[in-house]
Amino acid sequence: MTTAVSRDLFELVMAPNYSPMGMVPVHGSGSRLWDQDGVEYIDFAGGIAVNALGHCHPALVRALTEQAERLWHVSNIYTNEPAMRLAYELTQRTFAERVFFANSGAEANEAAFKLARRYGINTGGEAKYEIVAARDSFHGRSLFTVSVAGQPKYSEGFGPPIQGIRHVTYNDVAELEAAVSDTTCAVVLEPVLGESGVLPATQPYLQRARELCSKHGALLIFDEVQTGMGRLGTLFAYEHYGVVPDVMTIAKAIGCGFPLAAMLATANAAQHLSVGTHGSTFGGNPLACAVGEAALHHICRPEVLLGVTSRHEYLVSALGKLGERHDLFEGVRGIGLLLGCVLTERWRGKARDVVKVFLDHGVMVLQAGSDVIRLAPSLVIDQRDLEEGIARMEVAAVRLRDTETQAIQSTQI
Ligand SMILES: *Cc1c(COP(=O)(O)O)cnc(C)c1O
Repeated sequence: MTTAVSRDLFELVMAPNYSPMGMVPVHGSGSRLWDQDGVEYIDFAGGIAVNALGHCHPALVRALTEQAERLWHVSNIYTNEPAMRLAYELTQRTFAERVFFANSGAEANEAAFKLARRYGINTGGEAKYEIVAARDSFHGRSLFTVSVAGQPKYSEGFGPPIQGIRHVTYNDVAELEAAVSDTTCAVVLEPVLGESGVLPATQPYLQRARELCSKHGALLIFDEVQTGMGRLGTLFAYEHYGVVPDVMTIAKAIGCGFPLAAMLATANAAQHLSVGTHGSTFGGNPLACAVGEAALHHICRPEVLLGVTSRHEYLVSALGKLGERHDLFEGVRGIGLLLGCVLTERWRGKARDVVKVFLDHGVMVLQAGSDVIRLAPSLVIDQRDLEEGIARMEVAAVRLRDTETQAIQSTQI
């Protein structure tokens, strides 16, 4: 590329649906990242829970470049070795017996929801199509997935949404019991509400969802797009909770940054996705699956999963103290390395502004809604990087404490 690119070009050439930060990252290594000006950042955002092994992990670079010299793409008119190997590994390590590959979380969920509808109609007749989902959940940005997620800010203004979806309050057992019936084809839940503030499900809630689905012949679908691939310290969140779904969707960290997603299902459920019912051109692409295989092998190492718990303990303690000292966070919640720092009254509704001030001080974090700062760092982030990131957050927190709330908007870059 010969044109010099700067952040200014974004507004001129990109669709206006995003509003990215001022700096442009150009290079990453482990949990450090550098922008066009050579400024270094500690990455606690992990590309939104995607870069589970940090940036440019050597095992992933090797898997990708080796596959790049063998075979890139064949479509699903043919199968391929990396896809079959990865599917085999996933079925060996989970409840699932069948795998459908896709390219994003929304697509994996689209497949799960279409499967649920087929399953319902095939097993219970034309009226068994209702999907029960939690209000304030997040399942992606296709019309079906925004309809299921039940957040008006994502679903309104696109004409009629998909019908046949019943929304319940997350973690409310009584409401769930009242909503599930013989016309339910599936109950869809995130084990931890990721985008909506890092709110973990209670164990009895997921347990009851399992019982209700079994009783009414509905599929229990866990959206593990954000919670899967070691994020909670177990390979998948369902293991943490001891509640086994019929269908599970994964994306984000399965490719550690290479676009890859999957819907995993029992053989009994998957059989309803018969030949011709669904498909994807790129799904199961050899490059993506080769990376996925390497990522899965690495994340399954006991020291990686155990390391999530020790890093969790360090971060919860450090963030808790920092938040209290500077009247910034009123609490830290979450499981494993999916953490939510709940902003105090003073900063409520201003998560994006707080994220920007942290970035100005060399730390990348995320928001989850407007009241929570979310961290989803690499599962193998070095202790040195954790400490450096916390030290930088400390400086940012002093700056925030000493700044008038209204002044934040005008001083940030
Ligand atoms: C990110 C996310 C999705 C959507 O994934 P995309 O790859 O952006 O389509 C779906 N469900 C959950 C729980 C997510 O966190």
